[in-house]
Amino acid sequence: MTQPEITGHTRVVGVIAHPVEHTLSPPMHNAEFRRLGLDWVYVPWDVLPENLPAAVNGLRALGVAGFNVTIPHKQAIMPLLDRIEYEAEVIGAVNTVTCTGGVLTGFNTDLFGWQEDIQQDISLEGRAVCLIGVGGAARAVTVGAYRAGAPRLVLVHRPADADQAQALAAHLREKCRGAEVETASLDSSACRDLVRSCEVVVNATPVGMASSPGIPIPADWLHPDQYLYDVIYTPAETELMRAARAAGCRARGGLGMLARQGAMAFKLWTGTAPDPLAMEATLRQRLGL
Ligand code: NAP
Repeated sequence: MTQPEITGHTRVVGVIAHPVEHTLSPPMHNAEFRRLGLDWVYVPWDVLPENLPAAVNGLRALGVAGFNVTIPHKQAIMPLLDRIEYEAEVIGAVNTVTCTGGVLTGFNTDLFGWQEDIQQDISLEGRAVCLIGVGGAARAVTVGAYRAGAPRLVLVHRPADADQAQALAAHLREKCRGAEVETASLDSSACRDLVRSCEVVVNATPVGMASSPGIPIPADWLHPDQYLYDVIYTPAETELMRAARAAGCRARGGLGMLARQGAMAFKLWTGTAPDPLAMEATLRQRLGL
């Protein structure tokens, strides 16, 4: 495909990460800029952790319109910004930054991406949501679930992550007023029943990716009245999703979340609403799906 000409008018956005080679965001955003006829470009920047402050100052000085932030910088960037939007503050991670008049503002669009994607299938109002994993994606999903009306959250964790799970539960009880938050270690006798008591189960661990194959909970913990969301997007169909469908559950993978978090960042930077389905189609094409 012919690349559009880059001129002195072209607005620049991008992503900072380390490593950055794997990112699907440049083709996703650049295809949407072209489709909408916007004179914008999205570029990847590989930034080592020790260079993060210099890189952020450099981006500010260069006058970029904004940028995405991903592993390993999502938390480390927070003290380097001028403002943090409320949800990103509650989640404790930033994945999108806007740069307006030299002021850097941090957002977390993963939360909205997940909320919008899952709500195509199921309303979370009044539903108990079980999270497997207590890392970055889980933090965004828990806040998203609470905002969408889930009154009860169950955080399932590995035995070694008990302190992290307790800390997240305490944080959520403080920030998400009225929410009932429980934790369950995968090796505890109560875990199976706690998972089965939730109408929505979300995998927020990397278990199921090619680099981390397998299934994060036993398949026979799932039952037909549950809905399963897997935040993993490569592969598009994880072992857990297959097990859930075999158990009679509806299931969805994380590709739509990736497109929708990107769509929200796109709107924050450009002021123009993109089509998340077109962005998802670009991702599918890139992944050969
Ligand atoms: P993270 O911060 O490293 O968190 C992963 C969590 O999973 C940690 O709590 C980790 O525990 C836990 N975990 C790992 N193996 C486990 C197991 N066998 N059983 C239970 N828990 C286990 O990573 P993340 O940023 O949250 O990303 C998690 C996944 O979400 C990745 O696959 C990522 O690609 C995906 N993701 C998708 C989207 C999207 O838009 N669809 C957005 C963000 C992330 P330890 O700390 O003990 O390792």
